[in-house]
Amino acid sequence: MPELPEVETIARDLRPGLTGARIAGVRVHRSHILRQTTPAAFARALRGRRIALVTRRAKHLVLVLDDDARVIFQLRMTGSLYVTDARRRDPYSVLELDLGDRGHLVFRDVRRLGIVLRLTPAGWAAYTERLGPEPLERAFTAAKLARALSGRLAVKKAIMDQRRLAGVGNIYANEALWLACIDPSRSAAGLGEGEIAALHRSIVGVLRRAVRGRGTTIRDYRTGTGQPGTFQGRLAVYGRGGEPCLRCGHRLALTHAIDQRATHFCPWCQS
Ligand SMILES: [Zn+2]
Repeated sequence: MPELPEVETIARDLRPGLTGARIAGVRVHRSHILRQTTPAAFARALRGRRIALVTRRAKHLVLVLDDDARVIFQLRMTGSLYVTDARRRDPYSVLELDLGDRGHLVFRDVRRLGIVLRLTPAGWAAYTERLGPEPLERAFTAAKLARALSGRLAVKKAIMDQRRLAGVGNIYANEALWLACIDPSRSAAGLGEGEIAALHRSIVGVLRRAVRGRGTTIRDYRTGTGQPGTFQGRLAVYGRGGEPCLRCGHRLALTHAIDQRATHFCPWCQS
């Protein structure tokens, strides 16, 4: 599932081609991807609008239109976005924006779990308010992270909770906790000041490196130019349960007990 680095990569790839483009038409192939609107009403609201900005919030790609409305793409498990000039229909296309001579923006989604929303400025304010701070923004400090770490839930669950912290999913939570030498099952509120500082550095560091690596492709993720990312070759723990820890050489463990997701960690040096 695309996390912050993957969606950031897609946004950067699409930005040059989409910025300033006018939406000439909208085709909704799978209406269930829309919420609280019909394909016809959605298309009417977008047609003729210009794309002013291509950006990202948490794990979602955001198009800001010239009427200040926002179109949000939640890629979920298998969603991807690319621009094509080909007339041939992608069998997994769920929605397309016709951008005239700029081509077609295709939302491709094999498992069709993605969501597309159009939000008014008021709707956007409520939407973004519900999401936690952006970890790659300058304003994201260790003190901000400390606020996200309240309560007795596992620290791994806390940093993946999008209301507490935006953009971190299972892969980068595994990586950040290993880098910070913190046991993923520990209670969020039980971390000391030094541990919080280490976790802050680890989260920011791993996300930055993953953006530079154009994201992690385990299965479906593709960049905005259709390529796989490269960061999967640089993961320290994710997917490596049973293999030796790169820091201490002990065997890495794999558990699903914390949040039903795969948690890979080193029982020796994450305490
Ligand atoms: Zn270790």
